[in-house]
Amino acid sequence: MPPDRREPRVDCSVNCKLAMHRVYMDANATTPLAPEAFAAMRPWFTEQFGNASSIHFYGQRARGAVERAREQVARLLGCRPAEVVFTSGGTEGDNLALTGVLKPGDHLITSSIEHHAVLHTAERMRDRGIEVTFLPVDASGVVDPEDVRRAVRPNTRLISIMMANNEIGTLQPVAEIGAIAQQDDVYFHTDAVQAVGKVPIDVKAIGCDLLSISGHKFHGPQGTGALYVRRGTHPEPLLFGGPQERQRRAGTENLAGIVGLGDAAERAQAFVAGDGAARLGALRNRLEQGILARVDEAGVYGGGAPRVPNTTNLWFDHLEGEALVIALDLKGLAVSGGSACMSGATEPSHVLTAMGVLPERARASLRFSLDTNATDADVDFAVQLVPDAIARLRELSPVYRGPAAAVTQ
Ligand code: PLP
Repeated sequence: MPPDRREPRVDCSVNCKLAMHRVYMDANATTPLAPEAFAAMRPWFTEQFGNASSIHFYGQRARGAVERAREQVARLLGCRPAEVVFTSGGTEGDNLALTGVLKPGDHLITSSIEHHAVLHTAERMRDRGIEVTFLPVDASGVVDPEDVRRAVRPNTRLISIMMANNEIGTLQPVAEIGAIAQQDDVYFHTDAVQAVGKVPIDVKAIGCDLLSISGHKFHGPQGTGALYVRRGTHPEPLLFGGPQERQRRAGTENLAGIVGLGDAAERAQAFVAGDGAARLGALRNRLEQGILARVDEAGVYGGGAPRVPNTTNLWFDHLEGEALVIALDLKGLAVSGGSACMSGATEPSHVLTAMGVLPERARASLRFSLDTNATDADVDFAVQLVPDAIARLRELSPVYRGPAAAVTQ
């Protein structure tokens, strides 16, 4: 007799009663795949299979789907379809932009608040004989374009400054930096991973040569993304093999993933063109103000700077951010103590450190990031839960002396 592999019977009535109300406010880490994008992808896994490089019916059908998605992404970015290179996500796009353009002896200008996909690649480039300048940011987490201008040298080949910061949501002055790059005849890459679906993106208005996006940050599938490569720019590929993506990225295309990315791109563009971003901004502001009105010795990072509408990063003195993340998770609210890739690390966030925040305060910070499905009820839930959780944790603090006037930074 074969072993009985049936799952133990689950009593649904018991499970449903025990199911906790959960609210997800960690969209900058990832977002759920939109049901419409999933439905668009589904046939391409099974009956509509094909290799987009094959010349027969199956291949041409797949090729058509890939090219339709390329047009959708191009519309989102304001570029030509031929300028879109599909990648496996933001990390690959950032790596391709930096390693593809820079040669030993070149100079790279980037900022100290980039995602590690750029920062660690820049460090690697430095080990390979490329000079790197990591620009500082002000106390709100914004790069000064004049610092960029001053940093340009005769051998500067690339400027890489992100469009929106993943931890605090600040928007960087990318159009001004793009103008400087054009004046000085330097390539400009921007990591727009956290900007898509939150603010409009137009590669011409930004004046960039390279721009990376990631599907899973705007309700597309994980493991998908694209790099905008301006016509006339020829980054050295990361992957060699077949001639896919006009020789810019070898490997059989991720057909279903690309279809999902295209669908999500169209949806993100419509969301921003409509009132979606404004609605998200109003929810974020209510969340921020609702919490700060009930918690003393707390404040918001980058509150005075332009920010994407879905993100707020708050500090609460006299507690550990990680402890608060866990306490809130136990009550059903998912937030982050820093960038997702950093969670579990005890080092304070490099972004907050670059803004001049002291380590104790940086460790006492929480990032709330809303996705397009966020509701008023979600905000009410968080506004009720967070102050209670903070009060409980602070009761255990040996240094917290009780309520004082709330301050902001
Ligand atoms: N760049 C930024 C600003 C990000 O926030 C992230 C992910 O958190 C990435 C790049 C990496 O993107 P991916 O997860 O698609 O590799």
